[in-house]
Amino acid sequence: MKVRTRFAPSPTGNVHIGNMRAAIYNWLFARHHGGEFLLRVEDTDRERSTQEAIQTLLDAMAWLKLDVDGEPLYQSTRMEIHLEAAELLLSKGLAYKEDKGGLGQGECIIFKMPGTDASFEDGIKGSLSTAAENMQDFVIVRSNGTPVFHLANVLDDIEQGITHVIRGDDHIENTYRHMALYQALGADVPNFAHLPMIINAQGKPYSKRDGDAFVGDFREKGFLGDALFNYLALLGWSPGDDREVMTRDEMVEAFDLARCQSSPAQVDLRKLTWMNGEYMLKLPTEEFIATCFCEIEKGGIEAAPDYAKAVFGLVRERVKTVVDIVPMVAYLFTEEFEYEAKAVRKKLQKDGVREILEQVKSIFQALEIFDEASTDQAIHDFIETSGLGFGAVMAPLRIAISGIQSGPDLFPMLEVLGRERVTGRIDRTLAQFLA
Ligand code: GLU
Repeated sequence: MKVRTRFAPSPTGNVHIGNMRAAIYNWLFARHHGGEFLLRVEDTDRERSTQEAIQTLLDAMAWLKLDVDGEPLYQSTRMEIHLEAAELLLSKGLAYKEDKGGLGQGECIIFKMPGTDASFEDGIKGSLSTAAENMQDFVIVRSNGTPVFHLANVLDDIEQGITHVIRGDDHIENTYRHMALYQALGADVPNFAHLPMIINAQGKPYSKRDGDAFVGDFREKGFLGDALFNYLALLGWSPGDDREVMTRDEMVEAFDLARCQSSPAQVDLRKLTWMNGEYMLKLPTEEFIATCFCEIEKGGIEAAPDYAKAVFGLVRERVKTVVDIVPMVAYLFTEEFEYEAKAVRKKLQKDGVREILEQVKSIFQALEIFDEASTDQAIHDFIETSGLGFGAVMAPLRIAISGIQSGPDLFPMLEVLGRERVTGRIDRTLAQFLA
C-alpha cells in the first residue's frame, strides 16, 4: 500500500506554527515511506478563505519547501459531491432529516451514530477509545444546504486516497465520528495519528499572545525556512539520538511516528534562535552575501559592492537571524554613526584616552601597509612598550571606530574599514568627546 498523507488546512490568512508542524510531519512521513504528500485546501468558509488567505498558505509552504504531489484539491469545488453522499446516507437510513432548532428554519441532515463503543490505535497516542454514550448523532448538512466539516473532510480523504491522517489532537473526538462515517460510506478507515498541542510556558495552547505564532511572523523576523522546519520537526519528535541540526534527508530518513511524543511540546524561542544561527552559518557564502545585500537595500544603505562584501564577511559568524544584519553592519557604512552613551562615558571620557587615541592614530598613519596583521602587530607593540593594559587601548579604539563596545574582531574590522576611515573616525571621536 502506497502511503498518502495530506495537509488539510482551512485558510484564514495566517498559518499557525502548530498547523505547519502537522504539515511537516505529514510531509516527513510520506517522504520517509516513499509515498505522496497531498494538499487539500478546506476553503468552505468563503468569508475567511479569500484568495489572499490561500496565497499566504501556499507561500508559507513554499518557504518551508514542503513540496506537494499532484494538484491541490479545493474542498469548495466538491460541494455537489458532498451533498450527493449525504443523500445516499439518507436513502440508506444511515442519516435522517430534522428541523434542528424546531424554529422552522429548514431541515438539516443528521448522521446516525452506530451506538457502539469505538476504539482505534493511534499512531502517536496508542490505544484510544470512547463509550457509545459520548457520541451523539451529528449534523452533516446544515439547514442552509451546506455540508459540514466532518462530511467534507472524510469524503475528501476518501477521494484523495489518504492512508494516514496526521493531525492535531484537538481532532480526537472528531475521529470517532469520522470512523463511523467511513464505515457508513463503505470506505476503509485510514490510520490516524494525533499530535499533541504546542504550548506556552504556562502549559496553555501557544497563541499569538505568547509572541510569534504564525509562520509569516518568523519569516518577517529574519528566520530561515530551513531552520524553522528543523525546529518544528523536533518540537515533539526526536530522531532517538542527540542530533538537533539535521538535513532534510536525515530527517526524512529518521522520521518515525513512534518517536513522536504524546505530551504537549513547549515552544522555546531561544532554541529556535540558536538553531537559526546554525543555519545561517551553513548558508553558502554567496547566499549569505546575497541575503545581506538584500537586507541593506531594504534598510536604505548604499554601498560599493566590494566594500560591502568585506563588511558582510566580518559578521558572517555572528548573525543569528536575517534581521540582525542591518543593525550589525550599519555603522560600517556611514561616518555619521551614533556613539553609545554609556560606552563614551565609561571608556572614552577618561584620563589618558585622548593621548592613547592620538598615538594610535599616528602609529596607523606610519604603517607601510594597513591591514589586519600589521595593525594587530602595531597595537601589540604599542601595548608592550607603553606598559598600558590591553583593554585600555583596545576598548577606546573600538568605540572610536564603531561607537559601540562589541562587534566583529577589531583587527579584521580595521582592515575592512581601511586607514582613511579609521583615522577619520579617530579624529571625529577626539573632536566630539575629547577636545
Ligand atoms: N481543516 C481542518 C483543520 O485545519 C483539517 C483537520 C484534518 O487534518 O483533518 O483543523
